[in-house]
Amino acid sequence: MAFLMKYEVKQKLLTKKTKRRSGICMPSVKFIVSHDTGNDGSTALGNVTYYERSNNEKEASAHTFIDDKDIIECIPLTTGQPEKAWHVLYNITEDNRLFGGNANDIAAGVELCYSYTKGSINNKESYKRYVWYHAYLCFKYNIDPKKNICGHNELDPSRKTDPFKNALKIMNISKAQFIEDVINEYDECTIKESQPMTIEEKTAFNNLKDIVEKQTKIITTLHSTIKSLQERDKMPQIPEFAKEAVETAVKAGLVDTPEGGSYDFYRLITVLHRNKLIF
Ligand SMILES: [Zn+2]
Repeated sequence: MAFLMKYEVKQKLLTKKTKRRSGICMPSVKFIVSHDTGNDGSTALGNVTYYERSNNEKEASAHTFIDDKDIIECIPLTTGQPEKAWHVLYNITEDNRLFGGNANDIAAGVELCYSYTKGSINNKESYKRYVWYHAYLCFKYNIDPKKNICGHNELDPSRKTDPFKNALKIMNISKAQFIEDVINEYDECTIKESQPMTIEEKTAFNNLKDIVEKQTKIITTLHSTIKSLQERDKMPQIPEFAKEAVETAVKAGLVDTPEGGSYDFYRLITVLHRNKLIF
């Protein structure tokens, strides 16, 4: 099985061993926390640049930022050995209850860039990439999109509205709709490689191959037979009996190539001439 890489996943990594990027590896990627930036009009590159500039100011980060042009991982998730990002507070308990662990340890943190009032980001294009990337994560880490995708607002409802009560609400997309879109994208982008042939299929295939080979031989033989018959029929020169008839026919403009005709051709032309049908 393979996954269709509709979009390029770019890598613009933060400096390691900073507050934003510890460099600690994730033991596994079990679920996805969907976020949005909460910042109208900020771009993927803009957010990553800001993170790097402030890399030792705050223990807050995410793996990936997505806008209408780019999908950028600033902490490795699919483009390298997955490392932890700090995208959900450790002291909330909903992630432990639902998924058996802290989001920061075992969840991907994916940020959607959008525009509400400014219109500087094409929300539709951002959303397409966001959906595709979620589907790709589900494929890569064997995550069930129905059960193991949740919004930041679901884990930390008292503090957070992203993304289902913020950016996706602005785009008029419910969580159910989003999950459906991810599932459809997953199905559309999953490329099933053909299964190896069974013994029965192989036998049938070989039999068919034999038949085709035999038929090809027959056709080749037929072709060469027809060709030799045509050659045999061709007269090496104009026969004596037909010379006068052929000359007349050439003069009358009825024949362009007097040589190389068949025996029947010369016989016919002679009969026509003798009966004064060629003059
Ligand atoms: Zn968030």
